Amino acid sequence: MRIAFLGLGIMGRPMASNLVKAGHEVSVWNRSARQHIEGAMTAVSPADAAKDADIVWICVADTAAVERVVFSDDGVERSLREGMVIADSSTISPSATLRFAQRVAEKGVQWVDAPVTGSKVGAENGQLIFIVGGPDETVQAMDLLFKAMGKTVIHVGDTGKGQAAKICMNLQIAMIYEGFAEGLTLAKKLGVEPQKMIELIQASMIRSGVVDYKAPFVLRSDYSPNFPLRLMHKDIHLLLDTAKEVRAKLPALETVDEIYELSSEEGWDDLDYAATIRLLEKWAGLTK
Ligand code: NAP
Repeated sequence: MRIAFLGLGIMGRPMASNLVKAGHEVSVWNRSARQHIEGAMTAVSPADAAKDADIVWICVADTAAVERVVFSDDGVERSLREGMVIADSSTISPSATLRFAQRVAEKGVQWVDAPVTGSKVGAENGQLIFIVGGPDETVQAMDLLFKAMGKTVIHVGDTGKGQAAKICMNLQIAMIYEGFAEGLTLAKKLGVEPQKMIELIQASMIRSGVVDYKAPFVLRSDYSPNFPLRLMHKDIHLLLDTAKEVRAKLPALETVDEIYELSSEEGWDDLDYAATIRLLEKWAGLTK
């Protein structure tokens, strides 16, 4: 299949690379032009990448970035032909997704939202989980592409439902991590060895995949970005905005948002979101 892949960041780069390895004809584009992927063509614009493609796969930072790559002057929209599919693996607003889908539908193009979970390691190993919204037949026809980049496809429902489920999942990741970080910080303050605390957590009913993944990094104070704090912060804002649109309230998330605001002011946007624990440690007097 001919695929245009737009966005070669932490996630997009290995995803595009795995499509090449699976034998697809891939043309790639990234906003800053430093990127090249072996075996892929490098395009000069999103429109250029999409011109002969059957499917356009997007993995960029946020809603504004998706809007830019699809609808700006040199965007994908200029190259759309009836029967093409746009698959979006960025995590963006569910309501904006519906607007974008309606706009491209006028050209006979289908929009499949396919945000992912699995982080950098999952993208590199082709072990992502795709959280998908879109028409049944189209999603089924994309199976080989999903399999080239991931291990599981959860087809949640119509277009937009993938993004809806993804942000609700990230709400829980942010909260589970925050609970872990607060518990670990207080335990340290009370003289409990962090390693012992983690052993206890993972032996008990509160065991969590989030802790499985993050604890080794936290123990080494390694906050190099797997999922950058700025992107989790972006998702928290997506959640709060979406909740407002549908008149739901998320009081605990509003508090977590304040921790991310302060972490951002500390200049930690490009660290992993696990770095939010440093603020708690500072407040507890464990660090300066
Ligand atoms: P990243 O490393 O920051 O890469 C972001 C990509 O978006 C880069 O290619 C960047 O281009 C591009 N971009 C940003 N603003 C743009 C704009 N205005 N116009 C065009 N391109 C723009 O992020 P990532 O970790 O790959 O994440 C990509 C998406 O996947 C995000 O929506 C994120 O929430 C989601 N996600 C990430 C993870 C994870 O663990 N990292 C896991 C699940 C989902 P430049 O190179 O020019 O900056």
